[in-house]
This record gives sequence, C-alpha cells and structure tokens, in this order.
Amino acid sequence: MRNIVWLRHELRLTDNPALYYAAQGEHEVLPVFIWPGKTSSPGGASRWWLHRSLLSFSAKLQEMGARLLVMTGDASKMLPDLAVQYEAETVFWSRAYDPEGCVLDEAVERALRGQGTTCRIFAGANHLLNPADVWNKSGEPFKVFTPFYKRAASVSVDRPVPAPGKITTPAGRMDGVTIESLQLEPEIDWAGGLRDAWEPGESAAKARLDVFIGDGLKAYEGERDFPGQDGTSKLSPHLHFGEISPRTIYHAVREQSESSRDKALFRESEVYIRQLYWREFAHHLLHHFPHMTEKPMYPEYEKFPWRKDGAQLRAWQGGRTGYPIVDAGMRELWTTGWMHNRVRMIVGSFLVKDLLLSWRHGAEWFADTLVDADAANNTLGWQWVGGCGPDAAPYFRVFNPVLQSKRFDPDGIYIKRWVPELASLQGNALHAPWTASSAELEVAGITLGKEYPQPVVEHAGARERALMAYATMKSARSRK
Ligand SMILES: Cc1cc2nc3c(=O)[nH]c(=O)nc-3n(C[C@H](O)[C@H](O)[C@H](O)COP(=O)(O)OP(=O)(O)OC[C@H]3O[C@@H](n4cnc5c(N)ncnc54)[C@H](O)[C@@H]3O)c2cc1C
Repeated sequence: MRNIVWLRHELRLTDNPALYYAAQGEHEVLPVFIWPGKTSSPGGASRWWLHRSLLSFSAKLQEMGARLLVMTGDASKMLPDLAVQYEAETVFWSRAYDPEGCVLDEAVERALRGQGTTCRIFAGANHLLNPADVWNKSGEPFKVFTPFYKRAASVSVDRPVPAPGKITTPAGRMDGVTIESLQLEPEIDWAGGLRDAWEPGESAAKARLDVFIGDGLKAYEGERDFPGQDGTSKLSPHLHFGEISPRTIYHAVREQSESSRDKALFRESEVYIRQLYWREFAHHLLHHFPHMTEKPMYPEYEKFPWRKDGAQLRAWQGGRTGYPIVDAGMRELWTTGWMHNRVRMIVGSFLVKDLLLSWRHGAEWFADTLVDADAANNTLGWQWVGGCGPDAAPYFRVFNPVLQSKRFDPDGIYIKRWVPELASLQGNALHAPWTASSAELEVAGITLGKEYPQPVVEHAGARERALMAYATMKSARSRK
C-alpha cells in the first residue's frame, strides 16, 4: 500500500507526525513538495532559504534511500491526480493556520475526499499547541498576550515524535521537476551575505539549538536585548521553514534546565520559552483575524494620516537615515537577511513614528528581505510597532533612537560592525554623529552628508508630529 505525504513548512524528519505516521507499517511513502509557482508570496531572501532547505531535506531523504518528489502547480489539483497515479490509500499532511494555507487545506481536502482518498491531517505540528483552539473565558480568541500566554502555557506540550526509522519511496521514474528548476535563487547573485551567515536545513537547525542550549541559554535574559552580543538563538528561519519544530526546542530547553537543577537556568529557560509563545500568539491572531496582514487590527487606524515620501523610505531601506542604530539594523538586514529583535523595534518605530510612513511599507520590506519572514510574526511585529494592533506599543511610546542606541549598544559594537565608516567615532558622537564637533568628525575622517548622511529627520520635532497624528486616533478609539 502507498501513502503520500504533502510537505510545506515541515522540511524535517524529526517531529514530523505526517511523515512519521505515513511511514509506519509496510507502506511505501511518497513525500511531495509542491511549489505554487511564480505568484507565490515568499520574498527574495525566503526563496533563497527555501532553495537550500529543499536541497538539504532532499539529501536527508536520499541518505535513507528515499526520494522527494518536487512539483509545481496547484496542490488541490495535483494531489488528487497523484493519489490516483500512485494508487495511494491516504494523503498525510500538517494543517496550516495562515489565511492562504487554510484555503488551500480546505480545497485539497475537498478534492481528495471527493474522489474517495483518505486524508490524515495533523493539527499544530509546527506549534506548541493548536493555534486555532485556544479561547478566552468568553469563548473568543485572545487579543492580549499575557492572558493568552497563561492559557496556552497551561496546556501540556506534546513530546516530539521521532524521525521515521525507514522510508521506502515507490520504485520507478517520478514525474517531478528539479529543485533548481523552481528558480528560487536570485538571478543576480546578491546572496553572499546570506550564505556567510546561514546554513539552512534540519541538521544546521539542530546544531544551532545545541549550541544555544549549551552556551546562550544561561545568559539569555541579560543578553537578548543587546544586538552587539550573540545573545539569542537565531532559530527563527529554521522555525519558519519547519526545519525544527517548536516542540523539539521546548522539550530540549526544559530538559536542559530540569537536568541541571540550576534555578538560574530554569528562570532563563522560562524567559526563552515565553518568546516561543509570542510566536504562538502571532499565529493564533492571524488565524482568527486573517485580514491583519493587510489592515490594522483596529479599523480606525485605516484613516491614519500616513505621509508619502519615497526618498525617506529609500533612505530607511538602504540604511542611510543618519541615525546609526537604525542604519546598522537596516544594513544587517540587507546583508544577512536577519535583524536583531530589539533593532527591529527601533527601526520599526523610526519608520512609523519618526518618518510617519505606513507600517505596511515596513512589513513589505521585511517580508522581502528577512530569511525568517513570517506572515504572522511580521504582521504582529509591525502592528505592535505601528500602535494599531493587538497588545500594541502605546501610541505615545516613540522610541528615541539615540537613547535606545546608548542603552542597548553602549559600546557601539553593533554600530561599528554594520556602519564601519563611523568606527572611529566615540561616545555620544557614535550614537548621534550630528552632535560631534568638527574636530571629532575630522579625526574620524567623516563629513556629514558625504561619508555618512545628515539625519533625515530631527527626532524631537518628528516625535511631536507623531504624537499629534496618533492623538487623533486615540480620540477616535475612545469614542467607540
Ligand atoms: C517589526 C517586527 C517584525 C518581525 N518580523 C518577524 C518575522 O517576519 N519572522 C519572525 O520569525 N519574527 C519576526 N519578529 C519577531 C522577532 O524579532 C524574531 O522572531 C526574533 O528576532 C528572531 O530571532 P531569534 O530566533 O534569535 O529569537 P529568540 O530570542 O531566540 O526567540 C526564539 C523564538 O521565539 C520566537 N519569537 C521571539 N520573539 C518573538 C516575537 N516578538 N514575535 C513572535 N515570535 C517571537 C521566534 O520564533 C524566535 O525564533 C518581528 C519583530 C518585529 C518587532
């Protein structure tokens, strides 16, 4: 007998229930990845990652003597055809929770059941719990993180299932395409920085988790906000592509802290696990409020008086705003496809509040340039920054980029790494070059407006402008 396993964001062998259960017994198993084609949404950096992730997953299957069938097209048409062609008894897959994924899930299930093929769909395989099945006391979805966390953390997290012992794919020719033919890699090679920074794939994800647990976890709370330190796990792209499951991370972290009996490590691991629940919260929200990627959670913000300013948007995207911490973040993003969480908040606040440019511009740029671009996490992050989403930063909280820089990058390690033209500046001048004396600038070899830009906006004035704009929203909300 034969089973098909349809894979999307579960490019892993371990804790992949669809793959594991399909391979039980004497069944032949056909693992299939279907690329929807050019219209598919991932941005450039994500496509680069996906290409390598598929290569890595396919190689892992080959090590087991199995093969990955890669196809292009509409899964709701191809899977039923494939089931007939291979005389498959059952199609296995993990349920998606994002709006596009849910629509496709339904279409695939309808088409398969319609022709009499059995479907086995696994809930919450890429989550700590089923994001569609967490409710507040009134039976509604949560909109605030802390009560969500209390409720979600009270649900026990399933243990990961092991990798299948063996997978036997059907013999003979398979009518698939090569991974290369999906053309996920950029035509003009801009991905050198991504290659230097990352190794996609399940083995690399596991190695990163091991290093983090062995080394980073014990100092997580103290270091996670400092972009100059390597203080976070950097597991986000691996999680996004399903190269490692959150349950695997959760139990590995818990086991480490419990086996050490170290109270401090236990506290650190709780702080870390709480972050994993932010990811759960983001997916819970997007599932229940699917319009969130396009529209603010609170509709009155649709009328927000955003400015339009192409030159300032390009300065922000290119890391040429004249604010070193903002520019460092945007350049880290462009070079490596990732940005530190603290800096994501700083650059986000700068775009939305200092420049008064819509959070959607930020979300789109991140979606194109992040290797961990994730519709749920990105939307939550940007609506938080924009003050228009659930649990959002209060409208009057306008990050001061210079104070944030001094507090979270006090020695300028991060700035010097990503804005090397400022590396000779010291102290205040490094965080705010426009305050440097002409002697300081001369010694550092910098002319503002030449080697490094003048600030595109003056923060104090921009803050007042933002407060006035946000005040109109506040009164609209309080009238409701
Ligand atoms: C404006 C903005 C946009 C963002 N866009 C994305 C995005 O597209 N994809 C993405 O994965 N994260 C996004 N985040 C959340 C966060 O910045 C990243 O998850 C984090 O920086 C990833 O690094 P890490 O794996 O080292 O995190 P760690 O600190 O090691 O945390 C472990 C994991 O917890 C989850 N997590 C941590 N913080 C958050 C958070 N605030 N929201 C949701 N999940 C979280 C992630 O899966 C992360 O990998 C965004 C945040 C902001 C402010």
